[in-house]
Amino acid sequence: MEFESTIGLEVHVELSTNTKIFCGCSTEFGGIPNSHVCPVCLGLPGSIPMINKKVIEYAIKAGLALNCSIANNSRMDRKNFFYPDCPKNYQITQDKFPLCRNGYIEIEGENNKEKKIRIERIHIEEDAAKLIHTENGTLVDYNRSGVPLIEIVSKPDIESPKEATMYLQKLKSILQAIGVSDCKMEQGSLRCDGNISVKEKTCIKLGVRTELKNINSFKALEKAFEYEIKRHIKAIENGEKIERETRRWDDEKGRTSVMRSKEQANDYRYFPDGDLVAIKISDEDVKRIKKTIPELPYEMAERFEKEFKISKYDAAVLTSNLKIADFFENAAKLSGNPKSAANWIMGDMSKFMNEKSISIEDLKFTSSELADLIKLVDSHKISNNIGKKVIEEMFETGESPYDIVNKKGLAQNNNEGEIYEIVKKVILKNPKSVQDYKNGKKKAAKFIIGMIMKETKGNANPEIVNKLVNKELR
Ligand SMILES: [Zn+2]
Repeated sequence: MEFESTIGLEVHVELSTNTKIFCGCSTEFGGIPNSHVCPVCLGLPGSIPMINKKVIEYAIKAGLALNCSIANNSRMDRKNFFYPDCPKNYQITQDKFPLCRNGYIEIEGENNKEKKIRIERIHIEEDAAKLIHTENGTLVDYNRSGVPLIEIVSKPDIESPKEATMYLQKLKSILQAIGVSDCKMEQGSLRCDGNISVKEKTCIKLGVRTELKNINSFKALEKAFEYEIKRHIKAIENGEKIERETRRWDDEKGRTSVMRSKEQANDYRYFPDGDLVAIKISDEDVKRIKKTIPELPYEMAERFEKEFKISKYDAAVLTSNLKIADFFENAAKLSGNPKSAANWIMGDMSKFMNEKSISIEDLKFTSSELADLIKLVDSHKISNNIGKKVIEEMFETGESPYDIVNKKGLAQNNNEGEIYEIVKKVILKNPKSVQDYKNGKKKAAKFIIGMIMKETKGNANPEIVNKLVNKELR
């Protein structure tokens, strides 16, 4: 039997405003527990919330970057439930009238085809407090209470765990690029829930849906959905019934378990929050916010492909981090050799940065110095191999490539006459290799070239050496 899965994601993103959604308390991560609080975010009776204008602007910005239409009229609602992390016994969120609707993200889906994952809605809401479970009981930190969130709900257009990861990665890169969130999954500023159903390929009716919670990393996202798909398939094959329920992903045990069944589902009794006025957004507001959206990573990748004639893969890697993209663009323009700039950044530079775990901001040299190095190679002042030594030195000392080449005497010797003398000398000294070569061992030439490069401390122009050696041995 062949099966297919249908996945939808609900992503909560903390907005990086300085203050909370309904009060002036700081949104800073960490801090002494319960130090960023006031009567509003503690939910004390009689306190009145006031909406933070920046939250609405950020949410609209996200909506526009994700191709949504923005509602001219929307409002805040109360979602009623009792839980210790929610001191008012209701969460202020948006129910029927969200700020943004009908957007999409394009991903490269399975079988490498461009695919649209539709976004049903984006709404704003307040975050809950954080519960900290200890041996002696549970503690509550209200610092997170009232931190602004947007919830981005996709349509069930995702077909595989891999597509889910691609969707989330693209979503993250867009939100980071427009500056509305740092999207740090490890700090909880990007959180992901999902729902999934599996059916036989030939079956028209969708399978029973289960919800998945507690997915805390990209790895967990893929593993959790893979686990659920297997679980569903096994149940279908065994003729077992799949319950409509919410399940929690346990990363350590690598499995999901039941959190609550449908019978326990809450009726949240949504109704408009009477303390907050309706949100009215004019077309001018939308236009003004639209202007603040910078070039998005995928747009930049497309431009790099066209403008710099680099491969789609290279463009995607280079734009996965905006700082690296800037570094590349500068070096490409200044050196006039984009392909070489891409090679240095994705090759030697990323190797060193990984080894020493340093980021591009912490480099001791600039993009214009990388361009200088490329120019040294392109003008045959140094060979590519010597370039590798130079960039290593640039990492260590931050000296300019010119200084390194001069100081260490690394300049390439392009003097054919001089090189020819050395070639003759080495050939004279190695009659056996010459004989080997003449007997058909072509490898012997490599040995001779190696000896010549050694003699010249690697400075001889390799093309000239090759040419001369081949000529002499012929
Ligand atoms: Zn507060």
